[in-house]
Amino acid sequence: MYDAIIVGARCAGSPTALLLARRGYKVLLLDRATFPSDMPLSTHYVHQTGTARLKRWGLLDKLAASNCPPITRNYFDYGAFTLTGSPPPAEGVQEAYAPRRKALDPILVEAAAAAGAELRQGFSVQELVCGPVPSPWPRSPRARGCRRPGPCPSVNGPGPRSRAIQITGRPVPATA
Ligand SMILES: Cc1cc2nc3c(=O)[nH]c(=O)nc-3n(C[C@H](O)[C@H](O)[C@H](O)COP(=O)(O)OP(=O)(O)OC[C@H]3O[C@@H](n4cnc5c(N)ncnc54)[C@H](O)[C@@H]3O)c2cc1C
Repeated sequence: MYDAIIVGARCAGSPTALLLARRGYKVLLLDRATFPSDMPLSTHYVHQTGTARLKRWGLLDKLAASNCPPITRNYFDYGAFTLTGSPPPAEGVQEAYAPRRKALDPILVEAAAAAGAELRQGFSVQELVCGPVPSPWPRSPRARGCRRPGPCPSVNGPGPRSRAIQITGRPVPATA
């Protein structure tokens, strides 16, 4: 039995799992990907507000140790002119980073697992099964050792293409 099931273990799912697990909740973290793996559709920039959170969670040193260079000054080249400047620090953190997702996501995934979240990689959620109370349970055709349906709330991402939202027909939440 889990307090929360999180589908998607990258930059939204893993920190959610991390924070819940650190508060003592029993968390299942699922992803059809296996880590480390890249996400080509991303420009990777983590703003100061993001790096401040990584620092708060004790993960910024690990990102810095991945040989990803810190960014403190930005240049936006619009051809006719260039905007140059340094964004203000967030919570005292001046640096931004632009890590490959192959570097960033495993740091988040491993931190969630270290906090006690149970991680299942290579697990593609295909449907949700409702248990004795009307709460959905993710199932995968390739699931091994999947527990039987039960009264367990699930956490799903807010994206309109979320499989959970498609299945349940619930409105897209404002926050995850
Ligand atoms: C071109 C582009 C450039 C971008 N550049 C930036 C940037 O520079 N800085 C920035 O902050 N943001 C950027 N973004 C946005 C950023 O990529 C997203 O906000 C971020 O990736 C969302 O994180 P997420 O964890 O919600 O989802 P994702 O990173 O998309 O991860 C979702 C995970 O869920 C898993 N998953 C999905 N469905 C299932 C299922 N049914 N079963 C099991 N697993 C499943 C997937 O395998 C995946 O690992 C960019 C986006 C795009 C498209």
